Amino acid sequence: MNADCIFCKIVSNDIPSNTFYEDEDVVVFHDIHPIAPVHFLIVPKLHVESLASCDETHHGLLGKMLLLAPKLATQLGLKGFRTMINTGREGGQEVFHIHIHVFGGGETLPKI
Ligand code: AMP
Ligand code: ZN
Repeated sequence: MNADCIFCKIVSNDIPSNTFYEDEDVVVFHDIHPIAPVHFLIVPKLHVESLASCDETHHGLLGKMLLLAPKLATQLGLKGFRTMINTGREGGQEVFHIHIHVFGGGETLPKI
């Protein structure tokens, strides 16, 4: 838990979120500023700054987070989706608590 971290505050229920999945390791909630009809964030309960600060000890957690993406996307009716992990300021990261974006729905996503 990092007292200044907005996602830690969501994990501890100190600020509200639209959480639709939770287990002992992760919370998953809808992004507050969606960029697609469905856009959610897979967030570990453990405070880890970014993918760049992960090491072998995070192997299982990262695998679990990634495998949740298709499971939850399917539950929300997506037939396809895009995953994104912004890493570091130059990588577009704004919240420094690692998270996987999952988004899709509507039209086919543009090529990037
Ligand atoms: P990133 O740029 O990868 O760090 O993405 C951070 C994401 O968190 C952005 O898409 C924000 O819209 C989203 N976000 C920030 N605060 C909240 C919040 N309180 N609840 C849900 N999503 C949030
Ligand atoms: Zn945090």
